[in-house]
Amino acid sequence: MPMDKYRGISLQKELVGTIENYINTHPEMGYKSLADFVTDAIREKCEKLGIFTVESALPSLEHFNISEQGVRVLDRTLGNGTARGRIIDVYFKPEKVLCEYCDSSSCRHVQFALSIPAVQKIVQEKGWRIKE
Ligand SMILES: [Zn+2]
Repeated sequence: MPMDKYRGISLQKELVGTIENYINTHPEMGYKSLADFVTDAIREKCEKLGIFTVESALPSLEHFNISEQGVRVLDRTLGNGTARGRIIDVYFKPEKVLCEYCDSSSCRHVQFALSIPAVQKIVQEKGWRIKE
């Protein structure tokens, strides 16, 4: 990855330890690293404060390609040096909704997918009971 795209910041050890502990004990949230968490947290704050410009104020999670098999979700918090986000597949299984990226049924991608009215309709029409 091109290093000139990144800058480091210093955080209090205690704060970092607390967050790392949270990440490790909550794998269902889908944070793979401290940087993932911090990026997501900062983005959320910036969205609230209206800091981003129109171009960068795109929502961190966006859905497309809803089908009976699942939903594709674009996660803009998971970008890397070349991509501005990562496409994540959330599958509808008979008894649950599964995120392939987090290997979880309760991560933020699944929660996001279940918040989409079109998805709720599919789930309802199928008569699936999705356990949250
Ligand atoms: Zn996920």
